[in-house]
Amino acid sequence: MSVTTNIRCVGVVGAGQMGRGIAQVMAASGLRVRLLDSDTDVLNHSLALLRRDLSRSIEKGRMKPEERDALLSRIVLTTDIASFVECDFAVEAATEDQAVKRDIFRELDHYTPEHAILASNTSSISLTKLAGVTGRPERVIGMHFMNPVPRMPLVEIIRALQTSDATYEVTSELARRLGKTCITTKDMPGFVVNRMLIPFINEACFVLQEGLCTVEDIDQASELGLSHPMGPLKLADLIGLDTCLAIAEVLQRELGEDKYRPPAILRNYVAAGWLGRKTGRGFYEYDTAVERQRKVA
Ligand code: NAD
Repeated sequence: MSVTTNIRCVGVVGAGQMGRGIAQVMAASGLRVRLLDSDTDVLNHSLALLRRDLSRSIEKGRMKPEERDALLSRIVLTTDIASFVECDFAVEAATEDQAVKRDIFRELDHYTPEHAILASNTSSISLTKLAGVTGRPERVIGMHFMNPVPRMPLVEIIRALQTSDATYEVTSELARRLGKTCITTKDMPGFVVNRMLIPFINEACFVLQEGLCTVEDIDQASELGLSHPMGPLKLADLIGLDTCLAIAEVLQRELGEDKYRPPAILRNYVAAGWLGRKTGRGFYEYDTAVERQRKVA
């Protein structure tokens, strides 16, 4: 019998680009989902984007309309974490900020049933510290999905010092049930994926800052010269420049090495609110129908 058989309902905290994708893949695998955000506008916007993505899947013949309807019927939007009382598993995908995540883990510990596993989709923050604010540290783990969640096949599983073998097995099995391939890493800042990626994005920012070449040339150097599917500045815009900055700060602070320092240009863009795709402007400009609707509303 599968070790995930007892998971029927999953709570997702944060309805941004990652939380929305996590809710989608969980619901697609037949699980009931509670998708929570502190901001009602974000929840409504998230549902509009999810509908748009599923409509595209129908147009491409990858999904039937009745499958979309069934998937959407399994997702309940909420601003009330008390509704997580039914959840057997929770994934926190809120803003990359240690204080925010600590508060959420305290709340998850309070409102979810005792047996529930509490996972974080954090890109860099210590799972051992997050586990430490709960009364169930052995049932806390990192479940780091890639962006966009429905398309990217990898999940990085991070074991906090306190994570039990049972929690690790259930979480890995759940990721496989979602069609993902797992890698496992120890709890060190940035884990594996962002320990490698963020210095690359930082360096691309330094190249731009020093005026060596244009934004487009930097991405072409990576795409056409190194066979990367997406250049570092396009990827930074997709991730969100606020998230890239937050990860770089964690790497620099926690690993104590200046080589991870975030470039001034990245700090400036974040200060200007140019966060990438999610705000319509980063290193590139973006304009989608749903983004326009959001601004007008
Ligand atoms: P985002 O900015 O798109 O969404 C974050 C959401 O969290 C926002 O909607 C915000 O309203 C909500 N939020 C903030 N505080 C909250 C609270 N206390 N309670 C409930 N909701 C709250 O960010 P994102 O890109 O979806 O990233 C979310 C997490 O996933 C971060 O930890 C990030 O590091 C991680 N992650 C991001 C990527 C990526 O490519 N963007 C990839 C992997 C992991």
